[in-house]
Amino acid sequence: MTGAGANLATQTWPGLKPRLYRADGSPRPVGVLGFPVKHSLSPSFQNAAFAWHQLPHRYEKWEISPSEFAAFLEKARREDFLGLNLTVPHKLSGWEISTRRTPAAEAAGAVNTLLLDEEAGGWLGHNTDVGGFLETLPAAGYSPAGKSAVIIGAGGAARAVVYALASGGAATLNIANRTPERARAIVNDLQPLLPGAVLRVSGLDPAQWPVDRSLIVNATSQGVLEPDRPFPIPARDMRGPNSDPVLFYDLTYGHTPFIRGVRAEDYSALDGLLMLIYQGALAFETWTGLAAPREEMLAAARAVVAERLKGKTS
Ligand code: NAP
Repeated sequence: MTGAGANLATQTWPGLKPRLYRADGSPRPVGVLGFPVKHSLSPSFQNAAFAWHQLPHRYEKWEISPSEFAAFLEKARREDFLGLNLTVPHKLSGWEISTRRTPAAEAAGAVNTLLLDEEAGGWLGHNTDVGGFLETLPAAGYSPAGKSAVIIGAGGAARAVVYALASGGAATLNIANRTPERARAIVNDLQPLLPGAVLRVSGLDPAQWPVDRSLIVNATSQGVLEPDRPFPIPARDMRGPNSDPVLFYDLTYGHTPFIRGVRAEDYSALDGLLMLIYQGALAFETWTGLAAPREEMLAAARAVVAERLKGKTS
């Protein structure tokens, strides 16, 4: 991983001094906003992190529709919140409402972590998907430096992955999307910021992808929207004629259609759980200034996933 690029991916605000309690000594509220948010795993692992540090904070989840978003943030400002995570569909609104943004948030065009700007008022917006994704790569035994990768999808998550991989020194990044105009918009926005990498656009047909691809990231929401349908591109075609190892990576967690297709061919694959934990760990560190206990957070999330699986099969 290139040091400078990786630093840019995780950079927040120099001199940020987290304050955990309100003036009256009560813990500052913290949690996630989504619509829907019922199935969010974030409370499980964020509360594990607060408990590990013996802090009294309780990470909540709030189901907030887009039309309620601005009013909720106003309440959060009045009530002196420690911070917020934003998930679907609020990441773009988070970007728009932020008065200062980190380089990762700027590049991703999306904010998943907010905190109050104690100096200038307003909200500080960060994107921890970029750093969280980068942090998972060594665990998968993968370094992007000098390599070629394919990112399927062209939403906010794809942008975060493109920026992360280029920050990690990737040579060629092919963005493959059902709607090519969205992929082109990513190239137009990010290529000027990422002169060390070649960004290119293709459709979903792997015949159009670089032959030397060593990583294939599924950054689509297909697995969430159509969990019971096969992934639209066969795993063998995605792998292509290259005999070198290829890592398949789905940003969605669980036994997704993409993961099922890839594992049926015995290819090596990673789902999105580790990234979810690492992006959450970076958010925790941004709000609190404390080191996030990643192992404990992962164990807490795995316990909830196992519980839910048991519920499905019993
Ligand atoms: P988004 O902005 O809604 O983008 C969704 C993308 O999926 C679009 O490019 C869309 O293509 C594509 N797509 C949807 N259904 C498809 C299908 N049937 N076939 C082909 N392409 C399809 O979503 P996002 O915010 O980028 O998130 C994408 C996924 O990443 C979500 O599942 C999210 O949960 C996951 N994610 C995981 C983490 C983590 O920490 N693990 C973090 C962030 C996101 P079109 O442009 O053609 O519509």
